[in-house]
Amino acid sequence: MANPTDKAILFDASKCTGCRACQVACKNWNQRGYTETHNEGTYENPRQLTAQCWMRILFNEPEERPKSDDEIYWYFTKYQCMHCTDATCVKVCPSGATKKHKVTDGDSEAYVVKTDPKQCIGCNYCVATCPFQACRYDEKEKGVFRCVLCLDRISQDPAAFPTPEQASPDLEKNAKDPYPTRNRPACVQTCTSGALSFGTREEMLAKAKERVEFLKKEKGKEKARVYGEDELGGLHYIYVLEDSPDKYGLPEKPTVPAGVTIWETLIKPGAPWGGLALVGLVAAAGVGYVINKRNEGLERQAKGGGE
Ligand code: SF4
Ligand code: SF4
Ligand code: SF4
Repeated sequence: MANPTDKAILFDASKCTGCRACQVACKNWNQRGYTETHNEGTYENPRQLTAQCWMRILFNEPEERPKSDDEIYWYFTKYQCMHCTDATCVKVCPSGATKKHKVTDGDSEAYVVKTDPKQCIGCNYCVATCPFQACRYDEKEKGVFRCVLCLDRISQDPAAFPTPEQASPDLEKNAKDPYPTRNRPACVQTCTSGALSFGTREEMLAKAKERVEFLKKEKGKEKARVYGEDELGGLHYIYVLEDSPDKYGLPEKPTVPAGVTIWETLIKPGAPWGGLALVGLVAAAGVGYVINKRNEGLERQAKGGGE
């Protein structure tokens, strides 16, 4: 299970206005370029994650509107790599390029899944098997890209930055914030509606649960729930949802497919049981699964399909 002191981002869908400032901030801070897009009758842009766009805001339109027919309604979702504790991409990577990175900052740790482009062999297994379809391979840059939880920002010594009072003496909200202004992920720093927060998993989960209680009791949102607490061993993005995950374009129960576990245990270079003839048949099933998924993923990307 995820460590309670790991850093995490909380996305509160009930506060998001769909302004996409976080999406722009992510591109800006990580110096990602533009991609040519076309209006496809939706505010979502681009329509899928790319090596240039590591997170995007989904505008999910419900079939049955929770409000009156003449009111437009969306379920907004901040969509990117979830930094899963049981990360499929780490399990399948045959070269060791995709790893979990831990950076200790005082009594808490950053837990980030990242790919080293120098070690990446371009097999695309991680891209094809990710339960969230949240990472992308780029042929030009020869590497796999995903949200990196702004590791470069959050791992810097907070002492190097002005205290909240020094940074914004007039802003009461910053004075209450334990994380100095520039030491937070760019997307969190940019959000003005209060939909994004950053802290330890323990803090974010407590905040999320409190909000869910409020939504249920005060707003009549019976289906409100927390997402990310236990999924895939615990995600490092925690969500407050007002309805079921499928309304937000999120899988109800994301899982590591059995084929990936077989692959990791029996076939992957350095696997604990690799090389045993006894497990040949099972191993073949694992290879078949991973390769099939890879081919499906490449086909989907070629057609421009997303999550
Ligand atoms: S969301 Fe996908 S890319 Fe991100 S850690 Fe999980 S498996 Fe890996
Ligand atoms: S944490 Fe950083 S890399 Fe991840 S979505 Fe936010 S701005 Fe982008
Ligand atoms: S900046 Fe905040 S309010 Fe705007 S889209 Fe992102 S999460 Fe939603």
